[in-house]
Amino acid sequence: MNSTSAAPLIVSVSGVRGVIGESLTPQVLTDFAAAYGSPMEQGRVVISRDGRSSGTMCRHAVIAGLLSVGCRVVDIGIAATPTCGYFIKETGAAGGIQITASHNPPEYNGLKLFRPEGYVLSPAQGEAVANRFQNRVQSLVPWDRIHSVEVVEDPHRPHIEKVLSLVDVDAIASRKFHVLLDANHGSGALFGPRLLEQLGCKVTTLGGSADGWFEHTPEPTRENLETFCEQVKKSGADIGFAVDPDADRLAIVDGRGNYIGEEYTLALAIQHVVSNNPGPIVLNMSTSLVSEDVARAAGCTVYRSKVGEAHVAEKMIKHEAILGGEGNGGVIDPRVGYGRDSAIAMALVLELLARDKRDLATIVESMPRYHMLKEKYPVDRDKLPKLLQRLKSKFANGEVNEEDGLRIAWEDHWVQVRASNTEPIIRVFAEAKDPEKSAQLCEQVRQEL
Ligand code: MG
Repeated sequence: MNSTSAAPLIVSVSGVRGVIGESLTPQVLTDFAAAYGSPMEQGRVVISRDGRSSGTMCRHAVIAGLLSVGCRVVDIGIAATPTCGYFIKETGAAGGIQITASHNPPEYNGLKLFRPEGYVLSPAQGEAVANRFQNRVQSLVPWDRIHSVEVVEDPHRPHIEKVLSLVDVDAIASRKFHVLLDANHGSGALFGPRLLEQLGCKVTTLGGSADGWFEHTPEPTRENLETFCEQVKKSGADIGFAVDPDADRLAIVDGRGNYIGEEYTLALAIQHVVSNNPGPIVLNMSTSLVSEDVARAAGCTVYRSKVGEAHVAEKMIKHEAILGGEGNGGVIDPRVGYGRDSAIAMALVLELLARDKRDLATIVESMPRYHMLKEKYPVDRDKLPKLLQRLKSKFANGEVNEEDGLRIAWEDHWVQVRASNTEPIIRVFAEAKDPEKSAQLCEQVRQEL
C-alpha cells in the first residue's frame, strides 16, 4: 500500500479508493480488477462509472484487468450504483464493478465490488479480493481466452421500470409535483430526470450533465446543500432531491427550502411502506431513532445491524425485512435489490406525498425529532477493550449491543462507541430528544478515556 502520499490508497473489504494521479494509478486499477475477476474466468462482469472525469481512464484500466483474467466485460457506461446492481442481478452476471468514489471530492475515484445478487461483496469476499490484490494473485489467461467487451446503451430502462412498477404512478402523476433535482454532475443526472418525468413530475435538473465537474462538495449534507436549499425555495418547487455522485444516497429539501436531513429520507420511506404493509425493518446501529420510532409505531420489529451496506443487506435477508437502510440517505428496498437506491427512495417519498395530502414540511414536523451528536476522541488501541468494559458498567442500566463496537440504548436515547479502522481514534455517536442529553452522553464517554 502506498502510505507516503497525503491521501493513501485505501484498500478495504468494499473495494479500493484513492486520488487520481497519486495513489489511484492505472496499474492499481488493473491489478485490483484482475484480483476481483480472477476466480470468475468466462464470467460476465458488468462495469459502470459515476460520471467523474477520471472515469474513462479508470474504465480502460479496469477493462484491461478483467479481460486479462478471462472475464467477459459488459460495459453499461455511466450509471448509478443501484442501476449497476440491478443490471447485474437481472442479467445473471457473475459480478460487477462500479467505478466511483461515492461522495468523495472530484480528485478521488475508486472501485466498488458487487456479488452476482447485485449488491456489495460480503466482508469475507471483499477481504479475499484485497488479499489477492496485495499478494498479486492474478490468473492471467493466454491470448485465445481473452474476450471482447459488450457495450450496453441503455442500462437505465430496466431499473426505472422496476421502480415504476412498485409505486402508484397515476396517483403521483395526478399531483404534478414540481421537483428540483440536484444531480451535481453525477450519475443521477441520467436516470433521475427520466424517472421523475415518468412519474408525471415537472423536473428541473441542476448539474444535469454527468461529467464529474461537481458544482459543490458532493456529499449531500446540510453544509453542502445550502445553495440548493435556496434554489428550491426560489423555484417554488414542491420538493428538492439531491443525490451523491453514484446516486445511492438521497437527501431531501422541503418546498420551504429546509434541508430535512438524510435521516428523514429513510424515516419517510419506512413510514410510507409500513403504513400499508408492516414487516421487519433493519437499520444500522448509527441510524436515528426517528426511523425506529416510525417503524415501531406501525407495529414493526426493528433489527440493528453493523454499519455498512453489506451488513444491513445480510440482516435484511436473514429477517426477511421489507425495508432497511442507513441514516445517510440510503434506502434499501429488497423488491429492487439489496443496495442503497435513491431511485426507489424518490419514488416512495413522492408516493407518500401523493397519498398524504399535507406538504412535506408539515409531515416532517409531525415526526419525532432527535439530536444526534458525532464526536471523535484520540485513544490508544490497546486501551480500548478496558475502556469498553468500563463503559459497559457505567451504562449498566441500558440495553447493550456489542455487534459493532459498543452501543447502549435506552427508551429514547442511545450512545455508540466504535474504534476507527484507520486512525487511533474512537467515534462516539449519541442521540437523544434533548441536545444537552446527547452532549452529556458523549461527555460521559470522554470522562472514561
Ligand atoms: Mg454513494
